[in-house]
Amino acid sequence: MSTFLGMPTTAPRGVGHLRGDRTFPEAARDALKNDQLRRNLRHATTTIRGKSGKVIAELPDWQSLRDAGSAIKAGVLAQLPELLEQLEARVTEAGGVVHWAADANEANAIVTGLVRQTGSDRVIKVKSMATQEIGLNEALEAAGITPVETDLAELIVQLGHDKPSHILVPAIHRNRSEIRDIFLRAMPGVDPALTDDPPVLAAAARRYLRETFLSTTVAVSGANFAIADTGTLGVVESEGNGRMCLTLPDTLITVMGIEKVLPTWRDLEVFLQLLPRSSTGERMNPYTTMWTGVTPGDGPQKFHLVLLDNGRTAVLSDPAGRQALHCIRCSACLNVCPVYERTGGHSYGSVYPGPIGAVLSPQLTGVADNASLPYASSLCGACFDACPVKIDIPSLLVHLRNRVRHPAAERAAMAAAAYTMDRPKLYASAQRAAKLARIAGRRGRGLPPPLSGWTAGRDLPEFPKQTFRDWWAERASHPEPASHPEPASHPERAEET
Ligand code: SF4
Repeated sequence: MSTFLGMPTTAPRGVGHLRGDRTFPEAARDALKNDQLRRNLRHATTTIRGKSGKVIAELPDWQSLRDAGSAIKAGVLAQLPELLEQLEARVTEAGGVVHWAADANEANAIVTGLVRQTGSDRVIKVKSMATQEIGLNEALEAAGITPVETDLAELIVQLGHDKPSHILVPAIHRNRSEIRDIFLRAMPGVDPALTDDPPVLAAAARRYLRETFLSTTVAVSGANFAIADTGTLGVVESEGNGRMCLTLPDTLITVMGIEKVLPTWRDLEVFLQLLPRSSTGERMNPYTTMWTGVTPGDGPQKFHLVLLDNGRTAVLSDPAGRQALHCIRCSACLNVCPVYERTGGHSYGSVYPGPIGAVLSPQLTGVADNASLPYASSLCGACFDACPVKIDIPSLLVHLRNRVRHPAAERAAMAAAAYTMDRPKLYASAQRAAKLARIAGRRGRGLPPPLSGWTAGRDLPEFPKQTFRDWWAERASHPEPASHPEPASHPERAEET
């Protein structure tokens, strides 16, 4: 059976980076042993949180902006087909070409084919979650095309043959001496006397990237937003590498998730306030690049827009789960999450880490393929408070937990508990047995197999010394003396009347 964009089909297996090879608890156990990682994470997330909190506090209408962002995104999802067709028409009128990709395989094939048509064997890339999601770099390399990441942190990750661990700061898990070693090992033409001083490292990357910008004729980008009304695409970034990629090459190919479309420029106004403040803690992004099709004699002369589904329609088909598609990838939820701060991004297995990854990845892949992620949370609610578009991540986590198939032992235990609680005599016997277990000293040791998994990550609560039934029986046999009646004339009440 063929798959078309718009069919609620999950992202295919064997391509892209939405599934890890271990469960979250397995991967997190290793990450927790890495002190350096935890120090880097704590420092980075605390710094970003502080900056972000300060600039958000400057806006008296922040909560109204969040409401507006949430409402606009809900409206977009309600009229997604119409908006996408409008976007396609406007981009085409402006000289661009629109391609529809049902999944990662189709998107990779489209982009690889387009690059081949140009005759180039190298592309420069703007940081893009969508292209990471579909594993575009691997697909290009398999076709003999070299992708060069131009965002500094993405470049560090690429040269280190590593994986990103944060949406905004992909190399958050690396310290500067590790970065120097990576540059010395893998950056063409690097000075062998390179130090780990941050300005020196940045200068080395700039030298290498400048040469690459000027000698590469094809660029691949993602998009933060697309305006259906005019066919305009937008990328926001901090380093200026995006501006170089989006303006210097002859051919520009943009891969964009279908949920990124916005109806009008007025809607963009809301997100250009919400995103930088929640993301980098800036009042506005240093570089905001917008383009509409092609302009003769100015910028890329060929523009292709690849609209990517890859499971998004499946997310859209769940009325409760679809709010995960409101996400503008600001990473604020990662920076406030106590679980992410301790485990880092790699533990989530997907390119989308942290709280948003825990609700988006299982929906894009189907919950069975990422069944441990909805549990990668303490449900503290900090992510909901931080989210600029008010995605109720805790409720989504609970919603997805209900869709996970629980282990046979757990299902059997729950069925036994329900059966017992339905029968008062049996329930009383079970309570007596639990009391005996306490007396036998089981407290603090956890449950025996096959229920031991439940207490592997949490303490077994101490049983109370007296059950409610015992207390009730005792109370019934020794009734308390009747309380004294109130005096007939209370002075305050007399005044009230
Ligand atoms: S879920 Fe909200 S806070 Fe998290 S990355 Fe998306 S928009 Fe930002």
